[in-house]
Amino acid sequence: ELSTLAVEFNDLTDRLQKTEDGRRQFVSNASHELKTPLASIKLLADSVVQNENMSIEEVQEFLGDISQEITRLTRITERLLLLTRSDVKVQTSLTRVDMSYIVDRASYMLEPMAEHLDIDVRCELSDGCIVLAEEDGIYQAVFNLMENALKYNVKGGSVVVYTYIKDDKVYCIVDDTGIGMPHGELEKVFERFYRVDKARSRETGGTGLGLSIVKTTVEQFGGTVWAENRHPCGSRFT
Ligand code: ADP
Repeated sequence: ELSTLAVEFNDLTDRLQKTEDGRRQFVSNASHELKTPLASIKLLADSVVQNENMSIEEVQEFLGDISQEITRLTRITERLLLLTRSDVKVQTSLTRVDMSYIVDRASYMLEPMAEHLDIDVRCELSDGCIVLAEEDGIYQAVFNLMENALKYNVKGGSVVVYTYIKDDKVYCIVDDTGIGMPHGELEKVFERFYRVDKARSRETGGTGLGLSIVKTTVEQFGGTVWAENRHPCGSRFT
């Protein structure tokens, strides 16, 4: 009887540990997801505050963008709240998402960061790159990849993003001329909290979560994501 009890006890502690890990994972992912729209709102608002000569039309355009980001933020918090309720099975609503539109949007939101870092961002986008997915998730994934391409780049460097269709599949490629990754780490970077250069990552406000979120999201919608080194320098995420 004692041994059965011991087994049950071990089983229980295992389950508690898993719940605790799950809780931690949820909290860290949630904070990461909330950071993106918050940072965009801050940048957009600062642009208006710091530019005294803006026309009414320009101000309205910025406010429109801010409003759009707040809507996204609201959707994310609603989904996160749903996820905390064990009695609700969260339904993901798949829609037709235009990858080129998503890249365009992320690129627009990252413009101030690119300018600040003196990095040239170019998008070569094709029409009809439609995937069945959840728009917020895909936006977050593309944003993370493009933000990394800027973060792990060099002054005066460049980022090129492509979307195209080949063999009935939609491709989205993010190329950068940055610091690249050691060959042996090309798969590890997708692990939670994995960072090649801890110091640099911390400097850029990194947590090591971005790529794990990209991988989970892309795979959730039946896609694949991988990393390669580019010649003579930089990385390519497909
Ligand atoms: P974070 O950027 O918050 O550290 P990520 O999960 O987005 O976390 O990335 C994990 C690690 O992968 C980074 O710390 C960095 O070392 C490496 N990495 C990601 N993207 C790139 C890139 N485009 N070029 C070089 N290294 C990268």
